Amino acid sequence: MKIKSLILGPVKTNVFLVADKKTGGAVVIDPADRADRILALAKENGFTIRKILLTHGHFDHIGALNELAEKTGAEIYVASEDVELLRDARKNSSMLFFGIDVHSDLPVTEIHDGDTITQDSLTFTVRATPGHTKGSVCYFIENAVFTGDTLFQGGYGRTDLYGGDRDELRVSLMALAALAQGKKIYPGHGPTASTFR
Ligand SMILES: [Zn+2]
Repeated sequence: MKIKSLILGPVKTNVFLVADKKTGGAVVIDPADRADRILALAKENGFTIRKILLTHGHFDHIGALNELAEKTGAEIYVASEDVELLRDARKNSSMLFFGIDVHSDLPVTEIHDGDTITQDSLTFTVRATPGHTKGSVCYFIENAVFTGDTLFQGGYGRTDLYGGDRDELRVSLMALAALAQGKKIYPGHGPTASTFR
């Protein structure tokens, strides 16, 4: 497994490319912005983008979703509960923060807790971690966990936006604390790859 990252968009979102070492078949986790830069990073590393995995539907994680999906033909994966955020600029907060309409009408594959997504030799396991949004998920693969805005280094996501729920987040973080023990955390914002203890 190879992991490359970029920090993109108006609120410095972490964008991750995770690729099979041998084939270069890759997934993009949260295409925040600038499809051109994501494509350039893939090209530099000999990756071919096959899938797009979303940790949740907020605007700052989907800014390049349409362009990237159209240019690569990649399939989009998102939890059922957050599909409505992709479709609606008010629900994904792009209107609230920037007065711009960021949304996507592209077809998606809806995922649920316990699902697995494979790309060549890579297998991602989906864990539902509602609280930041209803459809927030974490992706587990080997020694890595991609936590989106559920868990940051030394903090966690806000719960005051559409679909947020403090009590749900607390339950999700408790579950995550057990599951992510000893793994490297790749969050949606801020420093990556701190080992979770
Ligand atoms: Zn968010």
